[in-house]
Amino acid sequence: MKEQEELDVKIGLEVHCHLTNLKTKLFCRCSADYYNKEPNTNICPVCMGLPGSLPVLNEEAVKQALAIAIALGAKISEKMIFYRKNYFYPDLPKNFQISQYDKAGGQPLAVGGQIRLQDKVVRIRRIQLEEDPAKIVYEGSISTSPYALIDYNRSGVALVEIVTEPDLTTPRQARLFLQKLRSILEHLGVCDCNLEGALRCDANISVRGGYRVEVKNIGSFKDVEKALSFEITRQKMLGAKKGMETRHWDDVRGVTVSLRVKEEEMDYRYFPEADLPPYIITKELIEEVRASLPELPDARRERLIKQYNLPLQTADILTSHKALADFFESSVKEYPKSPLKMANWIISDILGYLNRNDLDPSSLKLKPKDFAAVVKAVEEGVINEQTGKTLILKAAATGESIEEKLFSAVSKIKDEAVIAGFVDKVFKENEKAVKDALTNERAVNYLIGLVMKASGGKADPHITRSIIVSRLKGEAAKPSYLKETG
Ligand SMILES: [Zn+2]
Repeated sequence: MKEQEELDVKIGLEVHCHLTNLKTKLFCRCSADYYNKEPNTNICPVCMGLPGSLPVLNEEAVKQALAIAIALGAKISEKMIFYRKNYFYPDLPKNFQISQYDKAGGQPLAVGGQIRLQDKVVRIRRIQLEEDPAKIVYEGSISTSPYALIDYNRSGVALVEIVTEPDLTTPRQARLFLQKLRSILEHLGVCDCNLEGALRCDANISVRGGYRVEVKNIGSFKDVEKALSFEITRQKMLGAKKGMETRHWDDVRGVTVSLRVKEEEMDYRYFPEADLPPYIITKELIEEVRASLPELPDARRERLIKQYNLPLQTADILTSHKALADFFESSVKEYPKSPLKMANWIISDILGYLNRNDLDPSSLKLKPKDFAAVVKAVEEGVINEQTGKTLILKAAATGESIEEKLFSAVSKIKDEAVIAGFVDKVFKENEKAVKDALTNERAVNYLIGLVMKASGGKADPHITRSIIVSRLKGEAAKPSYLKETG
């Protein structure tokens, strides 16, 4: 039944990724960091497309887009050509978007490539560089807002668009694909995927016998799964309309809403952007970018398996988030003895906590050295596992440092000879207190306090008490004449 369902559904994704580490926009020198700026203050004639302004390509954006293409195993074009994608829409100040096109002589940055999931290969159709339109701000949701506001600060920010073949068959696969892609982008260091809108996704869904429906504006990974599930059920119940359709994901109400009958590509009227010459991608540039690539998730997963002897599944989950894999490796550095135990705690307890609270691993407040200290304390039998896990979850929520607290609690001196040394010293320096303790039990506590003080609070109080008590018994048993002379 399930297999039949998978056969019936085809999902393709178009992912838009902001190159958030760039300093400037794709074709002008306005800041690429438009977050939290006063609306419409981060704009210039170029990104607004005013007459007489000329775009100049940001070469660092080309390098970062190339890094993505190489990481995905795509075939890089020898030259890329920018096209104007003409359409009238309020978020496009110049009525066209500078993008790329893979037909009619157009050449995107790269074609092909793939992302490998556990049991599936998802093919990439093309990877292209384009500018982002502005942002339309609705009050409440798109379907209830009485008006739309437009903030052009984002207009012209560099985007890499990654388009897949319709190889996905379930909403869950789509989410796994996006997780893998996000991890790759994070490892490349080109996108802070946690920034609002930094990673956006449109999905094309068709159920066998129906027409393709595009769902736009899916903002989070959780929503991808929800939007796709909703849409598949809707199409199965009602059927897709005759003709392609574009729908909008309303994340407030959790439904897709019809926007318009889908434009055919002809409606867009693509033609070459005459203000930008074709960009030649040299072999040298490709090699330069290739040589600078960091370790990517697949390679890291294989290394984690070898280096720490982790099962495949465990290493796979850890590398699904760069922050999670980083947390694991930093923790192991602090306490290298039990990597597998640490990995299991991270996946079952810490990731569980993050998921329950809808948090991203990069926002985890728990520090690796605190986590490592707790695992060590459990391994050494100083605290039990349940206490350890409670401590970790508390620190994950509050960010409090547990290492110090734990240190004073766990690094008790248990060596009797060492404690006896402190007792000797206290007995020698406090003859009167010792004499009192022989007759007054409460004075014993005073002596214990002195030993604790002398040991910097680290002597184990139970052992200290028993040493002091047996020493006092010895004192009491001594004939008084011996006490006086010796
Ligand atoms: Zn500008």
